Amino acid sequence: MTTTISYLDAPATALLDVRCACCGKALLDAVSVEVGIGPICRLNYLDDVDASDVDRKVANVLIHEAALVATTASRQVEIGAALVALGFVKVAARIEVRWTKRAEKELAAAQKSATIRIEALEDGFLSVETPYVPEFVNDLKAEINSADRRWNKADKRWEITRDAARGLWTVLRAHFAGSKGFGPKGAFEITAA
Ligand SMILES: [Zn+2]
Repeated sequence: MTTTISYLDAPATALLDVRCACCGKALLDAVSVEVGIGPICRLNYLDDVDASDVDRKVANVLIHEAALVATTASRQVEIGAALVALGFVKVAARIEVRWTKRAEKELAAAQKSATIRIEALEDGFLSVETPYVPEFVNDLKAEINSADRRWNKADKRWEITRDAARGLWTVLRAHFAGSKGFGPKGAFEITAA
């Protein structure tokens, strides 16, 4: 394979954010961008696979897609399975490692940037941390029965029963619309009522 187009001239580099599907490094030549994998990782994970030219072409297209920053996590799983089916086991495993790491990082970032945090406690209650807004506290007390809420003084947060979750959501929407939250099911945004 010969490279005749330079990195800057390659149409793909100008349009897409492509990083090595295996290690995440920026790709610097047209062939790497096209395949979605850098020269060293190509050597380590791809070149020794015994595959037909047709299968290799299909694998290259899949790896390129995996290398796109915009590719979703669920699509990554499909790509991994397709690569394994074609016999590209090593590269599929390496891509999965990279994706798991990326997903963990994104989760940690979402958790960090959240202003509303909801956590499931062991006794079935949900803990709720928000910035301090007196009106929110008043509305929360009005919306949720005293039997369904308790103030955790030590951790400075409200704790409510699951039955009161709907009421909590109503009050959060009234006071924190547009805020980012993080809960047991991951990141969310408080939508306007
Ligand atoms: Zn790489």
